Amino acid sequence: MLRISELKLPLDHTPEELADAVAGFLKAPADDVRGFTVFKRSYDARKGVMSLVYIIDVDVANEDKLFARFKGDRRVMPTPDTNYYYVGQAPAELKQRPVVVGFGPCGIFAALILAQMGFKPIVLERGKEVRQRTKDTWGLWRKSELNTESNVQYGEGGAGTFSDGKLYSQIKDPRHLGRKVLTEFVKAGAPEEILYLARPHIGTFRLVSMVENMRAEIIELGGEIRFEQRVDDLILDGDRVRGVKLADGGEVLSDHVVLALGHSARDTFQMLEKRGVYMEAKPFSVGVRIEHPQSLIDAARWGKYAGHPLLGAADYKLVHHAGNGRAVYSFCMCPGGTVVAATSEEKRVVTNGMSQYSRNERNANSGFVVSISPEVDYPGGPLAGLDFQRELESKAYELGGGDYFAPAQLLGDFMAGKASTQLGSVEPSYKPGVTMTDLARILPDFCVEAMREAIPHFARQIRGYDLHDAVLTGLETRTSSPLRITRGDDGQSLNVKGLFPAGEGAGYAGGILSAGVDGIKVAEAVAKAMLGR
Ligand code: FAD
Repeated sequence: MLRISELKLPLDHTPEELADAVAGFLKAPADDVRGFTVFKRSYDARKGVMSLVYIIDVDVANEDKLFARFKGDRRVMPTPDTNYYYVGQAPAELKQRPVVVGFGPCGIFAALILAQMGFKPIVLERGKEVRQRTKDTWGLWRKSELNTESNVQYGEGGAGTFSDGKLYSQIKDPRHLGRKVLTEFVKAGAPEEILYLARPHIGTFRLVSMVENMRAEIIELGGEIRFEQRVDDLILDGDRVRGVKLADGGEVLSDHVVLALGHSARDTFQMLEKRGVYMEAKPFSVGVRIEHPQSLIDAARWGKYAGHPLLGAADYKLVHHAGNGRAVYSFCMCPGGTVVAATSEEKRVVTNGMSQYSRNERNANSGFVVSISPEVDYPGGPLAGLDFQRELESKAYELGGGDYFAPAQLLGDFMAGKASTQLGSVEPSYKPGVTMTDLARILPDFCVEAMREAIPHFARQIRGYDLHDAVLTGLETRTSSPLRITRGDDGQSLNVKGLFPAGEGAGYAGGILSAGVDGIKVAEAVAKAMLGR
């Protein structure tokens, strides 16, 4: 197979025009082209004209001649092998089963790959199965009732379940593990387009049934998923893990334990520190969610093409390096979505964003956040970032007035340094509700300064971003893990053998796709260790 990249066609081209463009590019007789598949499709909106840009894999006669003809042309190359190859196979008689703690994207892929290799993993997840969890999560949004073990952060599917389901990442991926993640998602019910769209998303509704299907496959392959099983302690034998202790007093023994905890398992991080597991503080970001009318973002991004069905609701990605040394950027942008209450702890307010596949809610939202670092902002050891987050989240709860209402402010008032007293033209989507106030009262001063500086810059890229009535809802504190549970090249904790820290909570992923990829990597590390390699 031969791969062509940078093949550009008008937005409204027909399938025949694409076929013609492929043959035309290769200057090959149409009959020589036996078939082709779209590997990637993205947009190019430069010079005011919207085009689709393709990467195409072509099955064509006389391939060698074509490679010779296009020698030196970086747009033509052999199609790389993106298949996934297992690192090993479990023996028929397993002496022991690996344990995976956490069933978010990382734990799901760790368990799935281990199961596919025949290792029959046991998954321990503190939250509930996804349908029950959905009810509990809605309990907070609709009735201000938080279940601290079953919420946006905890439960089957992990933090990514109630999300926009964006499935792209900037990680280096020479082994095409992201392709394996996407392929498994399609097998579990995701639309096939996620395999070729440059910026695919799934949305919350589909994620729920996909997670169930992946659970079913793991069980079918001999794995086990145990819900409402919170790991509260490690069983250690010198510098080796021998298993875990559960909140209900039970124990599960295994010499191979994957920790795919997510970034919100603060109690578990505290336990790990007590047990002496090596961890270090790492940078993350804090800020607010910002909401604009989606139509404003569509017009700014797509211009006269706004509303075109192929384009859908527009997204954006913004960065500004502020004079005080801080990076200000948009985070986890959710077109046509809603701002959600994402706390897992009582009397704390945390925001995040989600959407459905259709992305047809009236507002666009994204995190509007500022980078912070342990050396400067929260010195004092690996857990200091947790205290910093907790303090901000408690202040947000208080400023919101209780009952999990979030503090909010109009952008124009934030810029002018005055408290908001009422909403303008943008109706915020956060539930259970917002309290209009002055967010500068709880955000660190350097954040406020950097955010105010960034707004005019962002408005130059997205016309209308500085809309007076855009709503800021706070606080966004869990952009990534505040710590890293450092591991070595063998995937194991630096000082506890048999313990495999993985995913976002361990500081090795940020987002659904990269967490899934890390799950695969850690499953491979476990398999190698179990096979004595
Ligand atoms: P998690 O998904 O956090 O999973 C960890 C799991 O471990 C949880 O289910 C938890 O209950 C369990 N656990 C924790 N401690 C224990 C314990 N002691 N015992 C047993 N189980 C335990 N990313 C994207 O790429 N695209 C998006 O559109 C997107 N939107 C998001 C929207 C929201 C509202 C949120 C909260 C996050 C979003 N993210 C998104 C981020 C993404 O969800 C995470 O990066 C990803 O889920 C991390 O995967 P993980 O498996 O490492 O951790």
